[in-house]
Amino acid sequence: MRAMVLKKLHSPLEWSELDDRSPGPGEISVRVGACGVCRTDLHVVDGELPDPTLPIIPGHEIVGRVDAMGAGVQALQVGERVGIGWLGHTDGVCPYCRSGRENLCDNALFTGYTRDGGYATHAIADARFAFPLGEQGTVVAVAPLLCAGVIGWRSLRIAGDGKRLGLYGFGAAAHIVAQVARWQGRSVFAFTRPGDVTTQDFARRLGAVWAGGSDQMPPEPLDAAIIYATAGALIPLALRAVCKGGRVVCAGIHMSDIPSFPYELLWGERQLVSVANLTRQDGLDFLRLAPDIGIVTQTNVYPLTNANQALGDLRAGRFEGAAVLVP
Ligand SMILES: [Zn+2]
Ligand SMILES: [Zn+2]
Repeated sequence: MRAMVLKKLHSPLEWSELDDRSPGPGEISVRVGACGVCRTDLHVVDGELPDPTLPIIPGHEIVGRVDAMGAGVQALQVGERVGIGWLGHTDGVCPYCRSGRENLCDNALFTGYTRDGGYATHAIADARFAFPLGEQGTVVAVAPLLCAGVIGWRSLRIAGDGKRLGLYGFGAAAHIVAQVARWQGRSVFAFTRPGDVTTQDFARRLGAVWAGGSDQMPPEPLDAAIIYATAGALIPLALRAVCKGGRVVCAGIHMSDIPSFPYELLWGERQLVSVANLTRQDGLDFLRLAPDIGIVTQTNVYPLTNANQALGDLRAGRFEGAAVLVP
């Protein structure tokens, strides 16, 4: 198999020839058709997440076909199309797992961070964490649903049922969540970097009723806001934009420090919460609904060998929507 491998933090991925791997008990081998590029991959490369496994193959938005199964795998079949996402393994026995919160598992493994991911021709996965995908949609179109879509879905659920929804940072996740929120009958208010009119136009094309800079106030107070961008300075801005009782959800795995802010921004039963990872149920719920919602992902396709360019373009904000690698 071949893969783009992160051998050292802060350095480019290296195109590597690796020994073929066989799935162990309970595992599957997947021939990768496409793998999305998530901002979390940048945090891994940049050493912003604690204790990554090195060397590591990044990538946790994998769409492919099962090409071998280890002992004891019964729920899947060779040739079946599956998705592999961020949550790669849980222990099943910690207090979080036992209370229906496996997203918080004390001993979880994460694809492309603490176990090898999908910037590769093949990937090995714990079969219990693979999502059957069916045949609807191309591998490229479906790949961003595996993280941007599923984590977006979880963050939207945790934002509550409010009609007026703000999205801060209009990248891969927000461009999917905007479509889901519209389908649910909500009004989407999109916040981008100040002056980024290209992304604001993109948000309006996806149905946002308003799009502006993150330094602007929306034309009416919001019921909830989800922050996908990594700037902690957005938190007081989002708190200011939500009405009394409103909720601000931080959906990223990493943010810069939050500047201090007056208590009155939180007063009035405003809530500030984070969303961490996903449960398998989130994935099943969202991936089952996605075809009905008619989500159209905007994708920018790169050959797998150009993964470093894809990461660089994501870092610089050189495309709208999501980047997807194809081996
Ligand atoms: Zn656990
Ligand atoms: Zn991700």
